Amino acid sequence: MSVTERNPVLSEGGPAGPDGNGRRDEPQVLLPREVPLGGPRAMLVQRTLPQRRRSLIGAWCFLDHYGPHDVQPGSAGMRVPGHPHIGLQTVTWLFEGEVEHRDTAGTVAVVKPGEVNLMTAGAGVAHSEYSTPATTRVHGAQLWVALPDGARMGDRAFEHFVPEVLQVDGAEVRVFLGSWLGVTATPQTYTRLLGAEVRLPAGTTWRAPLDPDDEVGVLVDLGSVTVDGVRVERSQLIALPDGRDELVLEAHDEPARVLVLGGEPFGEPVVMWWNFVGRNHDEIVAARADWQRQVEAQRTTGHADGRFGPHPDAWRDVLPAPELPTVRLKPRS
Ligand code: MN
Repeated sequence: MSVTERNPVLSEGGPAGPDGNGRRDEPQVLLPREVPLGGPRAMLVQRTLPQRRRSLIGAWCFLDHYGPHDVQPGSAGMRVPGHPHIGLQTVTWLFEGEVEHRDTAGTVAVVKPGEVNLMTAGAGVAHSEYSTPATTRVHGAQLWVALPDGARMGDRAFEHFVPEVLQVDGAEVRVFLGSWLGVTATPQTYTRLLGAEVRLPAGTTWRAPLDPDDEVGVLVDLGSVTVDGVRVERSQLIALPDGRDELVLEAHDEPARVLVLGGEPFGEPVVMWWNFVGRNHDEIVAARADWQRQVEAQRTTGHADGRFGPHPDAWRDVLPAPELPTVRLKPRS
């Protein structure tokens, strides 16, 4: 997925708390903003991270929720041409529909509901995402994980994983990243992370242990839930107060489906601009220039290679980077 907000200066933020360095003692409900994804008949997504008041939950740095949208004949569904990333992993988790993914690690994969696709950008990757012709509804989440210093200049990679379906005290749980409830997802992460889907029957209250050292958020896909005494609706994200050792989810009068997203505090300042996660302004400028060279090569010769890897033969066009802001991007820590 590619960021297409009019002002693509997403955030300059780090691990600090709301007062600059303190603990977070209250839950934060983060309301989504609606953002068009791609061209003139763009699909709309609901974005809850990053925000001015919150940049990260663990290493999770970008949360988009979308659908269900019916794909009308002749309309787009998801159509995101080739675009670059640095310094992050993309996590694609679908509830309905299928998306064809191609990347410069040489991957061609169809992403399906209940199966996670994890793409590691390292120093540079590019990918495209199109809903398949058979897809009539698109519904899912596109999530980014920031890479720590030890991994963010590494190799590009792609992993696919199908989590087992756990029945836990009446809930149905799929752990797609990290370890929880006695199971471990195999995709490689570089900080301690948790990513799981939890389905709850209507009217139930469900409890699960948490690592009190982790930051944890709950993104609601269907229904509504009460978390930490706060009612949270569809496409909203609640970040738990620091130090919680138990998650309590209360479903209301309809079944609920949520994503539980957590992990150890990231601890490194980040600069996010467009599809890049870096540490300072100059890194972002260099990545943009490197991508624009590949854009120009694609346009003039029909193929390209470089920092972001060789473009798949199937690509006809790629997304150019927007203009840089006139101010310098600064990290905060
Ligand atoms: Mn992307």
